[in-house]
Amino acid sequence: MTKYVFVTGGVVSGLGKGITASSLALLLKSRGYKVFMQKFDPYVNVDPGTMSPFQHGEVFVTYDGCETDLDLGHYERFIDEELNYTSNITTGKIYSSVIEKERRGDYLGGTVQIVPHVTNEIKQKIYEAGSSSGADVVITEIGGTVGDIESLAFLEALRQVRYEQGKENVFFVHTTLVPYIYGSNELKTKPTQHSVIELRRVGIQPDMIVCRAPVVLEEGLKKKISMFCDVPVDHVIDSVDVKNIYQIPVNYYQQKADEILLRELNLPVQKIDLSKWLDLIDRVDHLKEEIEIALVGKYVGLHDAYLSVMEALKHAGYKYNVKIKINWVDSEALEQEKNLDKVFAHSKGILIPGGFGNRGIEGKIRAAQYARVHQIPFLGICLGMQIAVIEFARNVCGITGASSTEFQELCEDPIIDLMSDQKSIINKGGTLRLGNYACKLQKGTLAYKDYKEDLIYERHRHRYEFNNRYREVLEQKGMIFSGINPDSNLVEIIELKSHPHFIACQFHPEFKSRPNRSHPLFASFIEASIHYKK
Ligand code: GLN
Repeated sequence: MTKYVFVTGGVVSGLGKGITASSLALLLKSRGYKVFMQKFDPYVNVDPGTMSPFQHGEVFVTYDGCETDLDLGHYERFIDEELNYTSNITTGKIYSSVIEKERRGDYLGGTVQIVPHVTNEIKQKIYEAGSSSGADVVITEIGGTVGDIESLAFLEALRQVRYEQGKENVFFVHTTLVPYIYGSNELKTKPTQHSVIELRRVGIQPDMIVCRAPVVLEEGLKKKISMFCDVPVDHVIDSVDVKNIYQIPVNYYQQKADEILLRELNLPVQKIDLSKWLDLIDRVDHLKEEIEIALVGKYVGLHDAYLSVMEALKHAGYKYNVKIKINWVDSEALEQEKNLDKVFAHSKGILIPGGFGNRGIEGKIRAAQYARVHQIPFLGICLGMQIAVIEFARNVCGITGASSTEFQELCEDPIIDLMSDQKSIINKGGTLRLGNYACKLQKGTLAYKDYKEDLIYERHRHRYEFNNRYREVLEQKGMIFSGINPDSNLVEIIELKSHPHFIACQFHPEFKSRPNRSHPLFASFIEASIHYKK
């Protein structure tokens, strides 16, 4: 039988609720439990797929093709389990499903209401996460903060889950902020008290309170929170600011957060093995030299837009004991830039990540050209691969009109074109080529050397593809098509013959990178950058 843990947040957003949820999940997994994670986002969008990266940061893609909140990336990286379509639920998803049922007549003439119809739908998503994953414990994070109008239906559903499943099967963790007031120089518990009052107003009594604070909470403060919020004092856990986020689960473990949780859920406190995690912390704390990688994109103003890419770079750094410094290069500014040598002066590798639309495209093309000509290690991802191909077609093969129909619908040479099955699609949401697709690797290539496998599966999120009509010309001039989808013949990976490390892929390798298991394409990119530096 699955048990349920709900993580809510109070006072302010951005407290690290996702990291709290992931840390608890990691501890349970390290004690031998099967865990699964889920996030509720109370906004009305069906998924973040159609939101601007500036609004929402990156869109994380699951193997089964769900476009989800970037917190799912934290979950996967912490617990090293692949999540799926049941893992990210929004108000938009819940309402579409309820309205579809209403239109079908499923409610048999009844008046459709928030309670019970919407709340039932939410509960069903919670139970489905449990039954489809077969997990011992499902940990669900509720986005936003208590008191938000939009999260009310979700909170009511959680209250009902506790009522239906019983106290021994459901556990509530509430994360809050304990701010430090300069001048009087003290930590304040009142915001925590108020946010717990807010939670109780909707019928939820937290079982544990995780307090984000700049310093460790003294016993007296914990007692105060305990007394006013009605939780045992050892259930008040502090979450101090850390330099190394991998330290957070260990801090919770030292305060016995996982033991308390298991005991309250009537689950045996099995032996824990954190050895690999402790090794990771040690490695992260002792990285030797620094290496600069240029990341060229149009959303560089909001680093969250490239969260998984940044993480994957760091993971590769852990593998080779180097600290990654990112040189954020705004692709739009690059279009007019006179001195590219100056922009890339200290960069030992150039990465062009995914993206949409035509803003900054010419800047990215210049960056790809710079990497090719100066033999700087290059990694292109999704749009980054399309850019690399356009650049090569224009500047090496002399196809001067080469472009993508995404940027120039009627371009002379549509080297990158809309996939044929995309041509009749009108809706923007959820209609890209999403999730896992196979890719067959050609022996003797960089890609094969990296993966050491014939057939790989990677996650996708794109609408345009390489136009195979141009394959032969590009091949003749030295482009290698090292990865191909065996079913559609679609180009998945390209490389360059005359370059020590120039590789680009149509998929998103960053989603599968883990702190303890760097993704092969990122690992070899960083390895090549280290060589280049030397
Ligand atoms: N805009 C491109 C496409 O749709 C690339 C997408 C991406 O980089 N994720 O094909």
